Amino acid sequence: MNAAADKVTVLDAMVIGAGVAGMYQLYNLRKMGLKVRAYETATGVGGTWYWNRYPGARFDSQAEIYQYWFDEEMYKSWKPSERFPAQPETEEWLNYVADRHELKKDIQFSTRIKSAHYDEETNRWNVVTDSGELINTQFLLACCGMLSAPIENRFKGQETFQGETYLTGKWPKDAKSLTGKRVAVIGTGATGIQVIQTIAPEVSSMKVFCRTPQYAIPMKNPKYSEQDWTYWCDRYDETKDKVMNSFAGFDYDFTAKPWHESTEEERLAVLEEHWEEGSLSLWLASYSEIFFDEDIAEEVSEFVRNKMRQRLGNDKKLCNLLIPTKDDYTFGTHRVPLESNYLEVYLQDNVEPVDCRTTPIQEFVPEGIKTEDGTIHEFDVIILATGFDAGSGALSRIDFRGRDNRSLKDQWQQEITTAMGLQVHGYPNLFTTGAPLAPSAALCNMTTCLQYQVDWITNCIDFALKNGKKTIEVSKEVENAWVEHHDEVASKTLVVKTDSWYMGSNVEGKPRRLLSYIGGVNDYHKRCDEVAEKGYPGFKID
Ligand code: NAP
Repeated sequence: MNAAADKVTVLDAMVIGAGVAGMYQLYNLRKMGLKVRAYETATGVGGTWYWNRYPGARFDSQAEIYQYWFDEEMYKSWKPSERFPAQPETEEWLNYVADRHELKKDIQFSTRIKSAHYDEETNRWNVVTDSGELINTQFLLACCGMLSAPIENRFKGQETFQGETYLTGKWPKDAKSLTGKRVAVIGTGATGIQVIQTIAPEVSSMKVFCRTPQYAIPMKNPKYSEQDWTYWCDRYDETKDKVMNSFAGFDYDFTAKPWHESTEEERLAVLEEHWEEGSLSLWLASYSEIFFDEDIAEEVSEFVRNKMRQRLGNDKKLCNLLIPTKDDYTFGTHRVPLESNYLEVYLQDNVEPVDCRTTPIQEFVPEGIKTEDGTIHEFDVIILATGFDAGSGALSRIDFRGRDNRSLKDQWQQEITTAMGLQVHGYPNLFTTGAPLAPSAALCNMTTCLQYQVDWITNCIDFALKNGKKTIEVSKEVENAWVEHHDEVASKTLVVKTDSWYMGSNVEGKPRRLLSYIGGVNDYHKRCDEVAEKGYPGFKID
């Protein structure tokens, strides 16, 4: 223990993380009159929008719905510049939110939480930071993020490469310019695609190491005028209501006539209409049957493939490499990326795809990357867009110990379970947002699901305190029932048959389970509301 450990900070509530959820959780608990502080590893607010400052980073929920709903005036006074603003603007917006509500004075930056142990004698949590500082708190709110634990060491020999290596999820503020450089990009998920399409015009050459291809949808990203924003401001209540009550937390929803009741012309018209939208609506608001029915999913997949083939000039080699087949997976069972000119990039002379299915990466070497066919690909810069240990990763990187010294990390190495993504049995007064088994990341617009979860948690704590109680812990029975329901809903979908981070299959040894609840945001809200309305049955509140 160092000098910092002499002093213990005593709190009513402690928030881990100052991203979208952590900031709102801090705001809420402070409003309740609790002594609360947030702790954040970064030097600023923003979470995802602080760390993912890679070229081309932007969200793909529209600006009018990637919002907070607790301050109408704030919504109306921040004018997004375009429909899908890029990372710098989103980071600026979150700073605006933090400053408007004076959140930063209660956030300690540059602090990583190492451990949090529950003391059964005092019913309080003892938390230790990376500098040895101690915090003693009654309630612990882990708002650590769904996609905030990047996978850093994917490849043998990574440290031997003599050029620059950049990890998209930890992109440095002072990253060097890529202009004129020989660059490798590994990964073609939503992140890799944004990087590739953005840097292609400036690099001298780029090799993209492609493994699983993606069904790509072109993003339509018009600039927003004053008039455009006034349009959305006039629809504030309506939009807020829509996002809270739709399947995926967006302002669009599945409204088309069922597939089997439609003619071929009608189906095509619906698909074309959503395609023209240039948003995720083709996925989350055309035909919900794509999640359940393999034949329908295949027909919609073929619709997307045709669009992609045209853009690739029907180049056979590129089509084989970049367009998913039915054997890979069908449209919508994998996170769908929105892109701008992504496919056209591969038609440029300075861009070359490397097929990692036939020639996987063997290791990094001082000059660059060696593939299994013995080729050494030489680079100045290697960009790793290789994904995250999603859902459970950020929480498992903290040593959480609940009752009987049980370890959350050890538990989740066996099986990842939660009750509604909000609590885990055995960890009293620990609440989580963006955790496994709640709706998240495109099975929910993140701001919608995170705000709902924060509101639910706040009301639960308020309920306990108003009733003179000190601890809240979900029972094993409630947790089991949620897991059973979650799995039953998931098992009916095609998503569980597809390998991706959704199923945890991108991390070796991770127990397989759909990490996001797929019963719908509207359904999730109804179920969680019911628990609260009934006075939290199955929760031990003492
Ligand atoms: P990801 O979807 O998990 O993609 C990781 C990529 O790295 C995949 O293409 C993967 O290939 C590849 N990869 C991993 N190991 C490899 C290896 N050994 N050799 C070759 N390729 C390898 O991660 P992500 O792109 O960071 O996206 C994660 C999530 O973040 C998204 O799904 C989305 O929810 C969110 N996100 C959102 C936005 C947005 O809102 N616009 C932007 C970026 C990210 P395989 O698939 O073959 O394993």
